[in-house]
Amino acid sequence: AAKKAGRDRAVTFEESMYQAAVAEAEARTELERALDRNEFVVVYQPIVDLPSGLPIGVEALVRWQHPERGLLGPNEFIAHAERTGLIVPLGAGVLRVACQEMARWHREIPGAAAMRVSVNLSARQFQEPGLVDMVREVLAETGIAPEKVVLEITESMAMEDVDATVLVLHRLRDLGVRLAIDDFGTGYSSLSYLSRFPIDILKIDKAFVDGITANREDAALAEAVVGLGRALRLQTVAEGIEQADQQSLLTGLGCTYGQGYLFARPISADEITAMLREMRADS
Ligand code: C2E
Ligand code: MG
Ligand code: MG
Ligand code: MG
Repeated sequence: AAKKAGRDRAVTFEESMYQAAVAEAEARTELERALDRNEFVVVYQPIVDLPSGLPIGVEALVRWQHPERGLLGPNEFIAHAERTGLIVPLGAGVLRVACQEMARWHREIPGAAAMRVSVNLSARQFQEPGLVDMVREVLAETGIAPEKVVLEITESMAMEDVDATVLVLHRLRDLGVRLAIDDFGTGYSSLSYLSRFPIDILKIDKAFVDGITANREDAALAEAVVGLGRALRLQTVAEGIEQADQQSLLTGLGCTYGQGYLFARPISADEITAMLREMRADS
C-alpha cells in the first residue's frame, strides 16, 4: 500500500508540474494576445501636496481590459507578466503612454505645466540591459520634460544587488528623470545603502499610514520614516491615505506629498484632463 501511495504521489507531482507548465504557456499566450490587441490601459492616481491637497502629479497604474473577465488590476497579471518576461514590452508601453499623455497635458493645459508623472518599473525591467536606452527613446519620442518623469522602483528591488542598482540609477538620472523608492519600509534596507542611491523621493508604504491615527507605534514609525527622508533631503510621499486625520497627522510630521482614496482613486486619462482643467478654472 505504501509503494502504491508513493507511486500515486509521484504521478500526481508530475501531473501538477505538467499542469503548471501548461498554465504558464497559456498565460503567456493570453498576455501576448492582449498586448497585440491593445487591451492594457493606463489609469492615473493624483499625488497631492499634503497641506493643501492640491495635485502635483499622477502615478500611472496599469489595468487589463479583459474581453471576458472585465477590468483586471495589476495583482491579477503583473506576476505572470514578470515570469514570462512580457513585463518588458508591457512596462515600456505603460511608460510611453504615460509620457505621451502627460506631455499633452503640459501642452494643452497651461496650469498643468508643473505636473509630474510617476511610472512603476518591475524588477525584470530594471535588470534589462536595454532599460536606459528604452527610457531615453521614450523621452525623445514624446518630448516630455525629463524632470517631470519619476521612475519608481521598490525597496526590495533596489536591495537585490546594491552595486548594480546604484549604477543603473545613476544612468537613469543622467537622462534627467527623477527616481523614487516605492513601498518604502516593507523591505529591509540598510540605511547606509539608502544613502548611496541617487534618489529624490521616498514613498512611504500604506502599511505605515493605516494605523497612524490608531496606535502610537505606527505613528512613531511613520515619523521616523519621514524624518529619514528629511535627513537624506528627499521628498516623502505617503501612500494609501484614506482619512482626513491621517492627512493632518502626516502633514504635521512634515511629509511632503500624499496619495490615497481620500484625495482620488486611480481615474482615466479623460477624468484627469477634466480635473486639470477644473483646477485651472479654480485658480
Ligand atoms: P504601487 O506602485 O504601490 O501603487 C499604489 C497602489 O495602491 C495602487 O494599486 C493604488 O490603486 C493603491 N491605492 C492608492 N491609494 C489607496 C488607498 O487609499 N487605499 C487603498 N486600499 N489602495 C490605494 P494598484 O493600481 O492595484 O497597483 C498595485 C501595484 O501593482 C502597484 O503598487 C505596483 O507595484 C504594481 N503596478 C501597477 N501598475 C504597474 C505598472 O505599470 N508596472 C509595474 N511594473 N507595476 C505596476
Ligand atoms: Mg508605485
Ligand atoms: Mg507604492
Ligand atoms: Mg504600496
